[in-house]
Amino acid sequence: EESAGEAGYVTPVMAQYVEIKAANPDCLLFYRMGDFYELFFEDAETASRALGITLTKRGKHLGQDIPMAGVPVHAADDYLQRLIALGHRVAVCEQLEDPAEARKRGSKAVVRRDVVRLVTPGTLTEETLLDARRSNFLAAVARQRGSEGATDRFALAWIDMSTGAFRLAETAAAGLPALLARVEPKELLVPDNLFDEDELRRTWKASGAAVAPVPRAFFDGATAHDRLAAYYGVRALDGFGAFSRLELSAAAAVVAYVEKTQVGGRPPLDPPARDAEGGVMAIDAATRANLELVRTLSGERRGSLLAAVDRTVTGAGARLLAERIAAPLTDTAAIRDRLDTIDLLVAETGLRTTLRSALARAPDMARAFTRLSLDRGGPRDLAAIAAGLEVADRLAAALAPHGHGGVEIAAIVDGLAGAPHALGERIADALADELPLLKRDGGFVRGGFRADLDEARALREDSRQVIAALQATYAETTEIRALKIRHNGVLGYFVEVPPAHGPAMMSDPLARTFIHRQTLANCVRFSTTELGQLEGRIASAAERALAIELSVFSDLLAAVVEAGEGIKVAAATLATLDVAAALAELADAEGWVRPRVDDSLAFDVEAGRHPVVEQVLKEEGASFVANDARLGGEDAGRLWLVTGPNMAGKSTFLRQNALIAVLAQAGCFVPARQARIGVVDRLFSRVGAADDLARGRSTFMVEMIETAAILNQAGPRAFVVLDEIGRGTATFDGLSIAWATIEHLHEVNRARALFATHYHELTALAERLPRIVNATVKVKEWKGDVVFLHEIVPGAADRSYGIQVAKLAGLPPAVVERARAVLAELERTDGGKAAAILDDLPLFSAARRRAPAPAAAPDPAETELLAALDALAPDDLTPREAIDALYRLKSLR
Ligand code: ADP
Repeated sequence: EESAGEAGYVTPVMAQYVEIKAANPDCLLFYRMGDFYELFFEDAETASRALGITLTKRGKHLGQDIPMAGVPVHAADDYLQRLIALGHRVAVCEQLEDPAEARKRGSKAVVRRDVVRLVTPGTLTEETLLDARRSNFLAAVARQRGSEGATDRFALAWIDMSTGAFRLAETAAAGLPALLARVEPKELLVPDNLFDEDELRRTWKASGAAVAPVPRAFFDGATAHDRLAAYYGVRALDGFGAFSRLELSAAAAVVAYVEKTQVGGRPPLDPPARDAEGGVMAIDAATRANLELVRTLSGERRGSLLAAVDRTVTGAGARLLAERIAAPLTDTAAIRDRLDTIDLLVAETGLRTTLRSALARAPDMARAFTRLSLDRGGPRDLAAIAAGLEVADRLAAALAPHGHGGVEIAAIVDGLAGAPHALGERIADALADELPLLKRDGGFVRGGFRADLDEARALREDSRQVIAALQATYAETTEIRALKIRHNGVLGYFVEVPPAHGPAMMSDPLARTFIHRQTLANCVRFSTTELGQLEGRIASAAERALAIELSVFSDLLAAVVEAGEGIKVAAATLATLDVAAALAELADAEGWVRPRVDDSLAFDVEAGRHPVVEQVLKEEGASFVANDARLGGEDAGRLWLVTGPNMAGKSTFLRQNALIAVLAQAGCFVPARQARIGVVDRLFSRVGAADDLARGRSTFMVEMIETAAILNQAGPRAFVVLDEIGRGTATFDGLSIAWATIEHLHEVNRARALFATHYHELTALAERLPRIVNATVKVKEWKGDVVFLHEIVPGAADRSYGIQVAKLAGLPPAVVERARAVLAELERTDGGKAAAILDDLPLFSAARRRAPAPAAAPDPAETELLAALDALAPDDLTPREAIDALYRLKSLR
């Protein structure tokens, strides 16, 4: 095949390429040419930039050089992974016939090629492309316009193609960002008409997913039901549950995309399961980020709540735990079921140890099963199923006596009992101990499993011995000790002698046996009839052996697919068990307790700790000071106002309580001596003046938007954590806003709340409002320094110790001294008239020395500069405007 062409001429290969590329315009096209995937034109440029691979040229297309970049097929996974991680989609175009076939059609004929699969961030199945401990969700979002002033509704469907998980949820427009933040899809499908809509663009962007606009037809409500029914091979979906039209439309879009990317292959998706609206604790994106549930603000897993609690030993367990932490429940019965299992495993230490050591050897059955079903699996995937089933078998026996320990454990015992154990044994019997990655490499069927295979292999082995014997005979008859029999792909088996012996071999009598084939610089090569025959025998034995192995593989594969349901249940059961055992292990090691979650409005945490901070302190050899939070009850203390100096531990206290609520409702034990939580339906956590420059809003604006969301949405079941709200503006503005916010929370929202503030004036509110309690963090003063005790006690902070904290932070002593003097003066004069009085305070000596002599008349440039400065309102500026303002000021100098 040749892709080079004259000016204006299009080679047949390029014509084929252009056609296939046109059908996949939004993908990089990996175009198979022999041992390489090649990329052309813009694709080549993109890939070379993204992968750091060489960009070259290959022939001409319409008279222009064709930019080209290539990756070797054997290393393609690695390159794919990097491209996918960057959000690219890749169409893999394979050769569908042997080039020899094509040549039979004529010398100019092109090898048939077509796209066999689109690799996209949300449709990965390969172990090497996936993170074992994270789900890989593909989601689709459908919208229904609200009629007559009603707000729009959205449905989200999401699947993890690698495991078959399929979920659906519907929400009002306001809840969409929160839902996306919870699911964290890797790839998000939106109807193309919504892709560019102003209001929504920010939502898509914030989701962090690779967003793909797809044709509206994918979402077509009229055909959605039938498309789904066809996928599952059922007549009606009623058996799966009741779905809204909107949910069906999103689900159909996901399925349509799967069919498109898999080019007809159908991964084994579970029937869709819908989230009941209100079934999970509502946690908006800002709260989620702020509480660092599954990753820290800087995007790392380390330092998050999830990392602090995750002691699972399997990938599937880690994925399930992450999902639970991301979506705490509101149904007390379901929460209790999860807690019951942990309880059992906390008590039964021996059982727990058995489970965990068995689970540690359980491979990822769900993902192996998907690969096998898509005919993308290898011998190791079969072995994974066998090993997983073996673990399930062992655990079924260990757990059987505990089936009465709760609803979840009963389901676990059932799930394990229903696993196709015989299949596991059958696979284990068939497979060898050492397995190749690919089935076509052969050698994975255990010797002794099939007589015909053993026979074919023996023949192959025999032939090797025959060759060794033949070499000895040839060496003897030719009297050439250096004679060797070798093999290569071009000549097959051949005899090789050093060049000095060439002439003798090529003349009678030797030339009658040895047929000259090749003369190279350092050897001469010959073939013989005997070798030719042997070659044939060996090749056909190998071929027969491989054919037998492949048929063993497909028999086992068929049995696995047949037993799919039981395998998937077993896989899910092992994951559930892993999570429970891991949480029990954690509870036991760290002294966590079972929370009581009920339908009251209590929030009663005794000696609570912050799971992440405690762990960090522990690593440093320090200990955490436990604190109580009692927000329960109808009358007293619904809202705690926490004052205290910076660094005292206010934020830690606020967050630990929010995290305890999350853990409790996710069905985990909690870091406390005792905890009772009345179900929280919505959780809010905000920190004042958090920077959000990337989105081009001032910090204060963000703070107010978020506060508005809380005041508008929080009900009596909500739990609200507000840290230093109002800090982003002038003191009196900030104080007034904080004041009014507390009043609203207290009177209107009536939510349980923790409010940390540095405005001491607010503590006066406790006298006027019945359900407000003042709390403060204890500090000790010692020789002018401040010592933090991290202990929350009733009452209000008497002072803010800002100067002491500043001193701890290493502010120059002269500045600290000056600040003390200013503070003393401010306190003496009651703040208000400060400005005038400050002029009377002696300046530092250094500053005085540098102060310029007063000018006789005001400098006009200076006046203009001051006026410009006065006109600036930093809180209202976008970053762009701020930088412009800076330049303007600079120009006035
Ligand atoms: P604030 O919000 O009052 O400024 P933080 O909550 O950020 O203070 O706490 C500052 C530091 O104090 C934390 O990083 C932690 O190291 C330590 N700290 C906070 N609370 C505790 C506690 N209960 N026990 C021990 N150390 C704590």
